[in-house]
Amino acid sequence: MTDVFEVDRYDAAGRLGELEVPRAGVTVETPALLPVINPHLQTITPAQLESEFGAEILITNSYVLYGSEDLREPVEQQGLHDLLDFSGAVVTDSGSFQLAEYGQIDVTTEEILDFQHRIGSDIGTPVDIPTPPDVSREQAEGELATTQERLATAAEVETGDMLVNAPVQGSTYTDLREAAGAHAAQSGLDVFPVGAVVPMMNEYRYADLADVVAAAKRGLPESAPVHLFGAGHPMMFALAVALGCDLFDSAAYAIYARDDRYMTVRTTEHLEDLDYFPCSCPVCTSHTPAEVRSLDADERERLLSEHNLHVSYGELRTIKQAIRRGDLLELVEARARGHPAMLDGYRALLDHAAQLERTDPVSKDTFFHLSGESARRPEVVRHHQRLDRLDPRGDSVLLTEGNGHDDFDECWNLLPPFGPFPRELADGYPLTAETPERFEAPAYEAAAAGVARLVSAHPDTEFTLAHDDWPASALDALPERVDLWNLRGAE
Ligand SMILES: [Zn+2]
Repeated sequence: MTDVFEVDRYDAAGRLGELEVPRAGVTVETPALLPVINPHLQTITPAQLESEFGAEILITNSYVLYGSEDLREPVEQQGLHDLLDFSGAVVTDSGSFQLAEYGQIDVTTEEILDFQHRIGSDIGTPVDIPTPPDVSREQAEGELATTQERLATAAEVETGDMLVNAPVQGSTYTDLREAAGAHAAQSGLDVFPVGAVVPMMNEYRYADLADVVAAAKRGLPESAPVHLFGAGHPMMFALAVALGCDLFDSAAYAIYARDDRYMTVRTTEHLEDLDYFPCSCPVCTSHTPAEVRSLDADERERLLSEHNLHVSYGELRTIKQAIRRGDLLELVEARARGHPAMLDGYRALLDHAAQLERTDPVSKDTFFHLSGESARRPEVVRHHQRLDRLDPRGDSVLLTEGNGHDDFDECWNLLPPFGPFPRELADGYPLTAETPERFEAPAYEAAAAGVARLVSAHPDTEFTLAHDDWPASALDALPERVDLWNLRGAE
């Protein structure tokens, strides 16, 4: 793997980073959106993407150019940047998508990489096999072996300073995705797309998507730049970034616009259903839905494409600011509440909290406890790990949500969802958390798990727990030798 990616700041596994693209002579700030450019049909031109949307990178399909009677010769002569009129980084796909859609293509990895290199692509792609979800294990393994041969071939092709993608496949088999990530990292190639996830996104299978991405990330080294291939809907950007994806490509902005579909960070709307535009982009502040409906098809498509791009870039800026401030998981949580399938995705992400914890900063902006899901965040996992290293002083310890008491050798604070902690830690992250007055059961249960962990590590210490009316589901999880004291009853 080459050294082209640098992380500036983490939040969970999400990161602000810089991808150096030597052939383009540019450094792309990540997370980044790559609008997909159809060489034959440009509703929004690359020059407009650059000047109006600040696009630093885009992606186009070299296989379409390779097979085009009108464009192959011009692109070979002028080069890709001139043909598209774009000075940022240009990524080229290889025809793998066409392979998945139509079953065959007539180009090899050597031929298409050589072509990509000749036309001036900045990041090329071999012909991998995008194995869809839910195929037999035999098919997933067989196709992954072919993809891995293609990566080895790609590493041998002379491509100068063009970076080369090493797609990570493996269908819905997480162990194959993890092995594929480890293998791709060994290939000597540069950027790591997680492939064939579009069918999962089309079916709103965000939990499966989270599992697949987390698996690929386990195989890849931490420093690997990761592209979620074909992920273009802003509703899932925050989730995917929190899992550690750095690059997204969107054909959806244009495809949706063609069908009068209007993207938001919560969902997709149909233009005919809208009375108001819930957005403040230039399109939405200067038109009403009725006005846009009255326009001809080309103009409608252009305006909706522009809106879809504005909302996509806007969401990436929101995400970048959230990483900077350290509240990316609060943003993921907010997005998760927009759609039940996104909530499944967030819950699946939290299944990987220990994995996310490894890069999560030890200190961030205030932890906001927003739901039962918050109780499973990486910060809670870390606090429970820390309890193994904290020693109470004395023989009798009070763990309390209320005031201290002189009858005990030491009094610790008790705060759902974290559990117990010595009072001197109260001013440090995440124990300065903003919490609601009414927790859901998982917050108490997580706190009880913390208590149980502390108690089991100190068999000779007597523990008393002064709680504010915890539910039975939490109290039942405590070791029997803990004395219980309900503060509510004591009033
Ligand atoms: Zn808008």
